[in-house]
Amino acid sequence: MNKDETLTFKHSLRGKILILTVLPLVFLAILIGFVCTYSFTKAMLDEVKTGMADQCEMIADIYDRMYPGEFNLEVLDASNYNLYKGSVDITNASQIIDSIHRSYGVEVSIFRRDLCVVTTLKDTNGDPLTLTKASPVVVSGVLQTGEEQFYSDVLLNDERYFAYFLPIPGKDDSEPFGMYAIYRLASDVQALVLRSVIPVILLCLVATILVGLISIHYSQKIVSYLQQIQKFMHAISGGKFDVSLSPQVLALEDELGDLAKSGQSMQRSLRLLVECDALTGLFNRRVGDLKLHRAAKRAALHGTVYCVGICDIDHFKRINDTYGHEAGDVVLKAVAHILKQHMTGKQLTVARWGGEEFLLLFENCELADAHKILQKIHTRISEATITYQAHTIRVTMSMGLVQADPSRSEDEMLKAADTLLYYCKEHGRNQIQVKQMTN
Ligand code: GH3
Ligand code: MG
Ligand code: MG
Repeated sequence: MNKDETLTFKHSLRGKILILTVLPLVFLAILIGFVCTYSFTKAMLDEVKTGMADQCEMIADIYDRMYPGEFNLEVLDASNYNLYKGSVDITNASQIIDSIHRSYGVEVSIFRRDLCVVTTLKDTNGDPLTLTKASPVVVSGVLQTGEEQFYSDVLLNDERYFAYFLPIPGKDDSEPFGMYAIYRLASDVQALVLRSVIPVILLCLVATILVGLISIHYSQKIVSYLQQIQKFMHAISGGKFDVSLSPQVLALEDELGDLAKSGQSMQRSLRLLVECDALTGLFNRRVGDLKLHRAAKRAALHGTVYCVGICDIDHFKRINDTYGHEAGDVVLKAVAHILKQHMTGKQLTVARWGGEEFLLLFENCELADAHKILQKIHTRISEATITYQAHTIRVTMSMGLVQADPSRSEDEMLKAADTLLYYCKEHGRNQIQVKQMTN
C-alpha cells in the first residue's frame, strides 16, 4: 500500500471501522494484561510473604521446643563464638535450618543483633556465610522496632533475595536478642509469578484475537454490503439502470436490508420516470432510440437480421376534436395496451415515438415474421372497441415496416419506415406497407 492508498484506506469506511474495531480491542487487551499481571504478581508476592512468615514462625517454634530457654552468645574472639539456646550449644547444630532449607528451598539465618551467627548460605568455598552484617535498613526496621518485616530486594552473595525477618525476643522484653531470617531467591519467585501470569496473559491474548477476528469479520461484511449499496446508488445516479443488488443484501432484515430495498424501489421509480412514457407506460422515444441503436450494433456484430416498424393512428386529431383530449388519451392507452400484448419477449420492443406514433423493433426476426405480428396487431386494433364515457370509439392504424440492411444506418432505416408510413397515409390509411432494404 503506498502513501496515497494508506490515506484513502484510513478515510474509507472500511478503514475507519477497522480502526474503530481494532484499536479499542488492543487497548482493552493491554489493560486486561496489565491488570492481570499486577494483581497476579501482588497475589503471588503476598502468598510468598505469608509463606516466609510461616516458615520463620516454624523455625522459632522448633528451636523453642527442641532447646527450651533463651538464646545466648558467648564471644570467644573476633571470629569465634558459641551460640547457646537454653543450656545447649547450638553453634554447629545446623540440622533444623538445613532441613528447612531442603524442604522449602529457602535460605535460613539466625542473627545476634545485626550479626549473622548461623546460616545455610554458603560462600564460594562452601563455608557458611556467618559474621556478615544485616543492612542498616533491616536494623532500623526490625531490631529497633521489634517488628517482623518483609523485604523484596535484599542483595546477598550478588543475588537478589526476598527476605523475611522475625525478631528473637531478648531477656525481659528488652531489645531483641537478634532475628530469624528466611531468604528466597527473587528469580525463583519471579519464575513462579511468570508461570502463573503467562497462561492468563495468553488466554487474554487469544480471547482478544478471537473477538477481534469475529468483529472484523462482521464489520467488514457490513462494510462490503454498504459498498455494494453505494455502487448501486452511484450507478443509478449516473443513469445506469441495468444494475442489481445481490440477493444477500436484499435478504438482510436490518437497516441495511431496508436501505437496499428502498434503493431498489427508487431504481424502479426512476427507471419508470426516465425510461417510460407516463400516459401509456411504454418505453419513451429516448429508450426506443437507444434500443434501436443497440439492436443495429448487435446485428452488425453477429450478422443477424432485425426489422423496424413505425405505426401511426389514423385521423387521431378527429378523436380529440370530437370527444375531447381525455378521450384521445384513453384511445392512446388502449392502442398501447394492444401493442404491448403482441410485442412481448426480449426480442420485441415497442416505444412511444411521438404523439400517436409508435416504434416497433423486431430483433432476430425476418421480415415475413415481423409482418405477421404487425398484421395481428393491425387487425386487433381495427376490431377493438374503445369506450369513453357513453361513446364507443374505433380506430385504425397505418404501418410501415422495413427489414434492416447491415450496411444501412439506423437513420436510413427510420427514414425508410417513415416513407412507407407516409405512403399509407397518402393511399387511404389503415394498411401496412413492407419493404426489404437492400444496399
Ligand atoms: P393522420 O391520420 O394523418 O395521422 O392524422 P392525425 O390526425 O392522426 O395526425 P395529426 O398529426 O394531424 O394529429 C395528431 C394529433 O395528436 C395532434 C395532437 O394534438 C394529438 N396528440 C399528440 N399527443 C397527444 C396526447 O398525448 N394525447 C392526446 N389526447 N392527443 C395527442
Ligand atoms: Mg395520426
Ligand atoms: Mg402522427
